[in-house]
Amino acid sequence: MTPSRTAHFQGPPGRPEIMVIFGSTLTVISILCIVTFLLIREHANAQQTATRSATTIAQLIDADVLRTVELYDMTLQGLIAAAQRDDLKQVSPQIRHLVLFDRSTTARYKGDILLLDKHGDVLADSSLIEPKPGNFADRDYFLAHAFNRDAGMFISRPFKPRCDCDDSDEWRVSFSRRISSPTGEFLGVAVASMRMSYFDQLFNSLDIGTGSTLAIINDDGVLLAQKPHREENSIGKSFSNRPNVIRMLQERSGTFESVSSVDHQRRLYTFTRVGNLPLTVIVALSIEEVFATWNRTAYVISGATGVLCIGLLWLTWLLCRELRLRQYAEQELAQLAATDALTGVANRRSLDQALRHEWFRAQRSGKPLSLLMIDADHFKAFNDRHGHQAGDEALRALAEVINTNVHRTTDLVARYGGEEFSVVLAETDSEGAKQIAEKIREGVQKLPLVDAGEPPMSVSIGIATWTASSDINLEQLLFSADKALYQAKDGGRNRVVCAS
Ligand code: GH3
Ligand code: MG
Ligand code: MG
Repeated sequence: MTPSRTAHFQGPPGRPEIMVIFGSTLTVISILCIVTFLLIREHANAQQTATRSATTIAQLIDADVLRTVELYDMTLQGLIAAAQRDDLKQVSPQIRHLVLFDRSTTARYKGDILLLDKHGDVLADSSLIEPKPGNFADRDYFLAHAFNRDAGMFISRPFKPRCDCDDSDEWRVSFSRRISSPTGEFLGVAVASMRMSYFDQLFNSLDIGTGSTLAIINDDGVLLAQKPHREENSIGKSFSNRPNVIRMLQERSGTFESVSSVDHQRRLYTFTRVGNLPLTVIVALSIEEVFATWNRTAYVISGATGVLCIGLLWLTWLLCRELRLRQYAEQELAQLAATDALTGVANRRSLDQALRHEWFRAQRSGKPLSLLMIDADHFKAFNDRHGHQAGDEALRALAEVINTNVHRTTDLVARYGGEEFSVVLAETDSEGAKQIAEKIREGVQKLPLVDAGEPPMSVSIGIATWTASSDINLEQLLFSADKALYQAKDGGRNRVVCAS
């Protein structure tokens, strides 16, 4: 049986549920946004700190190399100045040697210091009072000075010495200056070599971590020194075709992140020029090491945030489920409170509410409102004959007949009490109400409730209708319907009477 107007118990989530879902979703989104923002900021901080320390390392190397090169330059300038003194030709070779290489003692990691004539032949050697004959006209520095009077302080490519000395296997680099006549004519070269172990000592004094690299290259992209050695025999090799080196030689100083073409590791490159020298210091920090702490923090925070958010969403789900259960329970209670237990139609309480509601609606709209009062005829006798259970069945059947004849959603069928039912028909005039009442009356007569030979079950119906022209209140409407019902009873039952 479907009452024409009963409460609906299933439906979309209620307002509290939506608020809880909205609130927790907003909280989760906020937490995720805050955590993401903090992680991005920490990542930027880690990169900034790494860049700063790389710059500091580069500056330290820069300053040390500059100071060392300055010392070599002073040595060379002293040598040239002494070599150009005419009075030095008259003194003994020992004194001459002493004067020529007077300033060379200060230079660190010093190799041979030579004075070459314009043919590249050795005129003086810091290690020997009587120089060993030799010719260095094929060396890059000699050619550079011979053909360019403005070469200044020339730094050679790394080389290994020709001598058969103990450390002949050790890489060296030479610093040289041109010796010119007052007219600018090429007279020779003063050259000092330095052992590359200077760079190893310098690099070893700096802690950069295992995955990071320190290097010095010249302007031709030739590697002078490196820590640690990433490639075999890389000293003296040109890397000028490697994209990272091209970029560093072009930009002269700066920072960028890139993949190493040697071991394909991602590194943070910080590079700077050594003063005005044709040298570039490169500090390449391993990205893995730079962001190691950040990575650990990110894993922990992301994990904790994930657990927190999942926990929050789970609690929200639990709360929503509880709210929904409560809502259903409340709706069920409300339905029970509004329904007649025997017949399933609305009870007296809902009838009073609905009738009042429709009454005021009719007052506002001015549309007619009809009320049917239906009473089973001789029901006491029916009970007496067939028993109360059959009586109850008959009441259920009656309610069903009434329901099937009332269709609009605004109509309400209610059990008024005992064997009496009421029907509220909104926006229905007395003519329409009479038609429905007649159908109900006829329908009840057809119910197969009685034994053969007995008169059929019947109902008497009283109708009262409020119209805009009538001057009655709600109580009077009820009273009129009741009165019409009694008129129908008095008139012989099984009939419909409209209140005049
Ligand atoms: P009338 O034609 O004048 O209405 O006669 P009636 O016997 O129907 O009226 P009366 O008021 O004398 O009796 C109503 C009877 O309805 C009394 C009671 O036995 C029966 N009744 C009321 N409520 C219930 C119910 O819930 N179940 C059953 N089985 N019978 C009920
Ligand atoms: Mg009665
Ligand atoms: Mg009756």
